[in-house]
Amino acid sequence: MAFRMISVGQKVVKFNRYRHQQGSRFPGAAFTHPSSRSYYHSNEALKPSEPEPEPELINADGSYPFHLYSKSQIVNIFSRYAPQLDHRPFVAAAEVFPMRVNNYVVENLIDWSNVPHDPIFKLVFPQPEMLLPEQLDRVRSSRTRLSPPQRQKLAEEIRATLNPHPAGQKEENVPMLDGISVEGMQHKYRETVLFFPMEGQFCHSFCTYCFRWAQFTSVGSDQQFKSKDQEALKHYLASHPFVKDLLFTGGDPMVMNSRTFARYVTPLLNNPETQHLQTIRIGTKSLAYWPYRYTHDSDAKALLNMFERIVNSGKHLSIQAHFSHPKELQTPQVQEAMKLIQMTGAVIRCQSPLIRHVNDSAETWSTMWNLQTRLGAIPYYMFVERDTGARDYFSVPLAKAYEIFNGAYAKLAGTARTVRGPSMSAGPGKIGLVGISTIHGEKVFVLKFLQARNPKWLGETFFAKFDPQANWLNDLKPAFGEKEFFFEPEYNDTSKNYPGSSGQRTYQCS
Ligand code: SF4
Repeated sequence: MAFRMISVGQKVVKFNRYRHQQGSRFPGAAFTHPSSRSYYHSNEALKPSEPEPEPELINADGSYPFHLYSKSQIVNIFSRYAPQLDHRPFVAAAEVFPMRVNNYVVENLIDWSNVPHDPIFKLVFPQPEMLLPEQLDRVRSSRTRLSPPQRQKLAEEIRATLNPHPAGQKEENVPMLDGISVEGMQHKYRETVLFFPMEGQFCHSFCTYCFRWAQFTSVGSDQQFKSKDQEALKHYLASHPFVKDLLFTGGDPMVMNSRTFARYVTPLLNNPETQHLQTIRIGTKSLAYWPYRYTHDSDAKALLNMFERIVNSGKHLSIQAHFSHPKELQTPQVQEAMKLIQMTGAVIRCQSPLIRHVNDSAETWSTMWNLQTRLGAIPYYMFVERDTGARDYFSVPLAKAYEIFNGAYAKLAGTARTVRGPSMSAGPGKIGLVGISTIHGEKVFVLKFLQARNPKWLGETFFAKFDPQANWLNDLKPAFGEKEFFFEPEYNDTSKNYPGSSGQRTYQCS
């Protein structure tokens, strides 16, 4: 895949011409569902069948042209797709928040007749309401008053007010190896290690609600976890036999080419030192944002072959697919990509945060989870939006999140009830809101550790006073007159006095 930043121009028009010639929104007829496992191994494997696309519409190597648009292209995109929209407030929002969107998303996922309300439009174009009115005014007026460096300074000043570095994001969870902290790795839960490959620290498009948003801007670039040290990864895993699960994350590891990905993974396969590693996971939004990664990119076949090698080595491969809205699952392109991944023996698990303006209805989630199940994927997590960025614009109160989760869950068949949530990935662990109840006359949130920094907390249930406005764990107060939650003394003590990786610490204590 060649990344190119271009203005909306001739190449995209050509790409669209093919779509229009097919007489449908998508070039759907070009995508067939393979019926045999050998589909992607044959020479024809990843090429669309009839009708053949026009040669000039794809690259010489059979890949689709990948075009990236940033804030400087907003005016062109709007004039082409949504001339009724005033581009200026959107350009102002994109001065503060990172923006990156590609041609697949623009042409296939956004319903331009429904902007500015379209959920995918809200997902990828920074929205003016993400800024306070006075912030928006300042940025807009700065375009004529201030020099570019002064405007950059203003944007940084505003970003700094948006909690760009939530507590502990950089410091907590970093393990040590031979007395030195391991860059680009987090080990929070004893059985699970997160690895941030250097080449995977950006995405095919950016989500406006991204909790790592600051890392894509000047105020947070030094906060990036990243490593290209595959030897350290192998050595660390070999030295920690309690680790069962390795998650490649980012950014999006699937922006890496297959050769780079193989460089990280291959040393872990068929290796007695890493035999204890059961599962390799890949956290990615590529299925939603660039499904051609698995069907048409020049190394798509090599990537799928690498997936199959992982599975054949005896490890479980799980694609942690980030789907924010059912629309992302409805195109022929994504359904084709999912099939090809599944044929390697990998399993697709789906997760997303609950986001106001994007997916804040039970109907949206039940549609999404039912469709995921029909496509052979596993609904896995509904997350609560974290405390950073334009949270006032995107966050859904916990009480409402519970109502949405339950409303959607009730419409699922048992096979789709694999999903957990709403879950907060908080400092002490993944905490699920599992009930709202009245106990001894007090209305309470019932919370449960789904994952825990201290394995002893796992599965523990605890209670917080019901608060209809609360958005996050920090907003909650213990119920029944308690002064603190049961885990707080230990959590506060270890955070203060024993910085570093809790996963490594609890492993050593076991
Ligand atoms: S795909 Fe993930 S890391 Fe990338 S912008 Fe979206 S939320 Fe952030």
